[in-house]
Amino acid sequence: MRPDETTSPPRVLVSAGPTHEPIDPVRFLGNRSTGRMGFALAAAVAERGALATLVAGPVALPTPVGVERCDVLTALEMRDAIYSRAGAVDLIIMAAAVADFRPRSALPRKFKKSEGVLRLELVPNPDILAGLDAVAPRALKVGFAAETEISDAEAEAKLERKGADFLVVNDVSRPDIGFAAADNEVTVYQRSGAKTFFARRPKDELAITLIDLFFSSLAQHHEVAVTTSLS
Ligand code: C5P
Repeated sequence: MRPDETTSPPRVLVSAGPTHEPIDPVRFLGNRSTGRMGFALAAAVAERGALATLVAGPVALPTPVGVERCDVLTALEMRDAIYSRAGAVDLIIMAAAVADFRPRSALPRKFKKSEGVLRLELVPNPDILAGLDAVAPRALKVGFAAETEISDAEAEAKLERKGADFLVVNDVSRPDIGFAAADNEVTVYQRSGAKTFFARRPKDELAITLIDLFFSSLAQHHEVAVTTSLS
């Protein structure tokens, strides 16, 4: 690409928040994700002048300025929303805490306490990240891993298994970072073998740092401009 050529900014797809898997019309299986990290990442993408689409699970957060948003409820809805957009983007960041299991079928009416024991059969949800290669082979892919403990070998194996280029790992056993906290502290593993630790800082600040890291990797491997050059 010539240096004076005007190129388009990267297109980025970010997932955020939990998914809710219905048990009956009023109950669901969910998790503690608030969506803050994913929303901060989408905001950072827009701040850098790039195009962000946010696929959000059920969260109580306002849409960041300049970000296109698609709301979903379940893991299957999130998969469909992601896969239908994945082929048109350069970078996909799966920051959502997708439920690993869902009730095989939701009850059509509220189950009453007087009915006694409620037995649930849970079936695995598809792994959205692991399936991305089939729909978006060229996109750079980022996974998040919320762990209470993880070794380098386990993180590297997860990176491989999920077909991701980056894995951002945070420790969810600490109350001061991760789920529902304002701050985060992460270790980023790369497919190339590089490992980088980012000490505790506000999620907004960490999001900018991570986006800059992903964009510089995009600039090296893909023909997209991190900033548009008109010189
Ligand atoms: O295996 P684990 O749940 O730790 O992997 C976390 C990563 O995989 C996150 O990036 C998450 O968004 C993604 N994931 C997914 N589909 C699932 C479960 C997790 O895309 N069903």
